[in-house]
Amino acid sequence: MLKGIAASSGVAIGKVYKLEAPKVVISEEVVGTEEERLTEFRNALAKTVSDIEKVKERASANLSPEELAIFDAHLMMANDPEFASQVEDMIKSGQSTAKAAKDVSDMMVMMFESMDDAYFKERAADIKDVSFRLLCNILGLTIPDLTAIDEEVVLVANDLTPSDTAQLNKKYTLGFVTEIGGRTSHSAIMARSLEIPAVVGTAGIMTEAKAGDIIIMDALEGKVILNPTEEEIQKYTEKKYQFLAEKEALKVLKDAKSETTDGHEVELAGNIGGPKDVEGVLNNGGEGVGLFRTEFLYMNSESDFPTEEEQFKAYKAVLEGMGGKKVVVRTLDIGGDKKLNYFTFPEEMNPFLGYRAIRFCLDRKDVFRTQLRALLRASVYGKLCIMFPMIATVNEFKEAKGVFEEEKAKLIEEGVAVSDHIEVGMMVEIPAAAVLADEFAKYADFFSIGTNDLIQYSMAADRMSEKVSYLYQPLNPSLLRLIKMTIDGAHKYGKWAGMCGEMAGDAMAAPVLLGLGLDEFSMSATSILNTRKIIRKLSYKDMQDLAKKALALDCEEDVAELVKETLK
Ligand code: PEP
Ligand code: MG
Repeated sequence: MLKGIAASSGVAIGKVYKLEAPKVVISEEVVGTEEERLTEFRNALAKTVSDIEKVKERASANLSPEELAIFDAHLMMANDPEFASQVEDMIKSGQSTAKAAKDVSDMMVMMFESMDDAYFKERAADIKDVSFRLLCNILGLTIPDLTAIDEEVVLVANDLTPSDTAQLNKKYTLGFVTEIGGRTSHSAIMARSLEIPAVVGTAGIMTEAKAGDIIIMDALEGKVILNPTEEEIQKYTEKKYQFLAEKEALKVLKDAKSETTDGHEVELAGNIGGPKDVEGVLNNGGEGVGLFRTEFLYMNSESDFPTEEEQFKAYKAVLEGMGGKKVVVRTLDIGGDKKLNYFTFPEEMNPFLGYRAIRFCLDRKDVFRTQLRALLRASVYGKLCIMFPMIATVNEFKEAKGVFEEEKAKLIEEGVAVSDHIEVGMMVEIPAAAVLADEFAKYADFFSIGTNDLIQYSMAADRMSEKVSYLYQPLNPSLLRLIKMTIDGAHKYGKWAGMCGEMAGDAMAAPVLLGLGLDEFSMSATSILNTRKIIRKLSYKDMQDLAKKALALDCEEDVAELVKETLK
């Protein structure tokens, strides 16, 4: 049994599908006659072309024509007669098939990488991809392909990239287990919006699990069992059905109010990564979208920042999809662990503390203005709120808001319809902003507390590191005091305070947050109904008393104990 972090709830039992790039080892030993090696090469090259065609075909259902263009570039390279003839010449001069293919590819990569033109530099990456595929075919190695999975499996990987998760087929993916990551890493967040069980940060899984092994993943407790006994399979099958039955039972609360026993109402909203996630929020009784992470639009774009038109379509789709319910869109939060294919961030010692989010946008106002224009144009299709990520100083907020006002005025002058009721707020995820919340509240229309980052910055503990994951302590009184300052700061000026970090959907935190006066809780769609169930059982007055007591404690364990006692 291995221990990991439960990142997206559920239980799954199935066969392991290992998402691991095969290791290519090139031997210099020459096997077979020249004719046999030439045939080996030609067959492997033909298979490479047909593999790429198949991947393209399967991906065409999910990707846009621009995104599919990458496969055409790969096909062009694989069909390049110059490349084939150079490899054949090397084979004829006595090289092994793999060595000849590798040497010619390396030479081409070097040539393209040394060019100044960004377009040609990018082609170097294409050559590497194609040559990797070709070498695997020569050596008889299989490359895992998520889009080719056609039976139920549990994915096992070191980590999943956003593009891996975008390719996941929910029909066949029972769940996934990763070696690294924490509850707030992006693969975990994606798993929750896809409603797929996930256990992350499972040290040892990549060495222990083999393709085809039977695996049990208990993503309620963060446990993984490899090659289980019959009894274990039976026990966890029951647990799985019990979980599903409880989930089904919660559906009666879909249209119920999020209200305490003494009539205090809060708003329960969902976090989304794109228009596709709107359905999940509505199906789970979400009263709005409290966080639209727009960076996925940018990360899924292949060769450049998404255009104003592309963004406009996505924002409009979400606003219309939510049918007039509130939608909080966060402007681009890129940098840190979130990279772009078409933009190179500067090398920094601490990227999480570096050039990212609003810092990037205030530096690259061209990128920022495009997003704001798209948002402003979409604003007439629903109830839009905009917030800026990673605000540290009042001046940053004022500057960002100023750019927003300028773009709004320009559009109005151009005769474009723009809503007059857009709220402009900010995320509170840097301790400096929490401490000064009562000043920020003079300018911002609302706050949304990003605890994933607020905790990492308060504790100085990298949210991606399992080694220091014990410092991810949502209930630590230090954090509760920062949250209180933020909420009180907002209320002092009649503004609202929400939370969109993972803590908002944490069952243990809900009573305290309620008592602290949080107005809006935004979370993974799958946590909404359970949170509503909890809130409907609590008295606001009692939770205010609970929060007061919690703020006076000195460690997370004691707060957890207090909450458990109260909920008994
Ligand atoms: C947060 O920091 O809590 C947050 C919601 O933003 P992200 O997880 O995208 O950094
Ligand atoms: Mg954040």
